Amino acid sequence: MNHFEVRDGELACEGVPLSRIAEAVGTPVYVYSTATLERHFTVFRDAMAGLGRGEPLIAYAVKANSNLSVLKTLADLGAGADTVSEGEVRRALAAGVPPERIVLSGVGKTSAELAFAIDVGVAEINVESEPELERLARIAADKGARAQIAIRVNPDVSAGGHAKIATGKADNKFGVSMAEAERLYARASNNAGLRPVGVACHIGSQITSLEPLEAAFGKMRALVERLRAEGLAVDRLDLGGGLGVPYFNQPEPPAPSDFAAMIRRTLGDLDVGLAFEPGRVIAANAGVLVSRVIHVHDRPEGQRFLVLDAAMNDLIRPAMYDAYHDIQPVRPPAADAAVEAYDVVGPVCETGDTFARGRPLPRLASGDLVAFMSAGAYGATMGSEYNTRPLAPEVLVRGDQYAVVRPRPTYEEMLAREPLAPWL
Ligand SMILES: *Cc1c(COP(=O)(O)O)cnc(C)c1O
Repeated sequence: MNHFEVRDGELACEGVPLSRIAEAVGTPVYVYSTATLERHFTVFRDAMAGLGRGEPLIAYAVKANSNLSVLKTLADLGAGADTVSEGEVRRALAAGVPPERIVLSGVGKTSAELAFAIDVGVAEINVESEPELERLARIAADKGARAQIAIRVNPDVSAGGHAKIATGKADNKFGVSMAEAERLYARASNNAGLRPVGVACHIGSQITSLEPLEAAFGKMRALVERLRAEGLAVDRLDLGGGLGVPYFNQPEPPAPSDFAAMIRRTLGDLDVGLAFEPGRVIAANAGVLVSRVIHVHDRPEGQRFLVLDAAMNDLIRPAMYDAYHDIQPVRPPAADAAVEAYDVVGPVCETGDTFARGRPLPRLASGDLVAFMSAGAYGATMGSEYNTRPLAPEVLVRGDQYAVVRPRPTYEEMLAREPLAPWL
């Protein structure tokens, strides 16, 4: 469910026509719906309510969409933040997420980042390896502090989805094995600088079946029981993120309510506080990337290119993960309009800068607007200025108002970031 619908003959975000934003802000531009963000978060939160000991911590995965206004929208509803860098912790704090709802994950946290997280007093630092555990213990001891940690476990299950976003197989770089987790948890319990509060897993992203999640959660349950049998306290089980979203041509992913029913079945009687780290399922369908057609290039040989002003630097998912995004004309054609097959491409000097091949679309012409649907997660956050193309601006809509929540940088600003070497 999202709030991008045709109104008065054109695609709108809530009460604002996308063409109005495109005129005022220019293209390409990301547009986010407050109502969709709020709806997705509350549906998820309400589905998980009552599961486990106390209220679950819903730590929104900041990397999916880290715009401060998006974070603040979610923080105002009680969202925590799952972060993977000091920068993301700083964003979460700036958006008003209290430290006791911030989780710091990541395979390669620097010592500076760990020290920062201790100083801030985050809820949980998810430790992903033995060297990290040792380093964190030393840093905390030097500060006379006690870092709250969870051990990130790699439950060795295949989550399906694209290989680049699967994280839960034994040969992925994330987390430690079950056996290692037991050993490290016991060690941490005897360390003055560490307070182990629980165990964590996150097996991948864009997961469209509950089976791998259920398999992982079953293993996590067994781990909690083994740790407790050894006399170790386990207060929190962090189940990660990863729930998939419908990108139009894929099987319908499980709803949060199905996910919650599975958790009740698998973990219902475990008496442990639960944490979740949803990213994509909150943000993906809350955003679109609006782009203008530069021109249509018809090759005499028959290929037809739709050349857009958006490119792989704005939305890299198709190039990087072969991801599918539905592309909708902002002004829908008449029902009987001709449909043509287009190779949809951007202006970047790489063949990889292709959004879709042979995509059936109504006939489009120079100046028309199109919207890449489901671009609210891993869209703007993965943007770059490759080819010295300014970062696409971000706009947040609420009802019939909108605000530019990250302006497009000017060329002057972009060039001013690079002082010339003094000898030049
Ligand atoms: C990326 C990530 C998430 C969020 O994944 P989604 O698929 O967006 O829900 C959660 N936890 C960790 C540790 C991550 O790295």
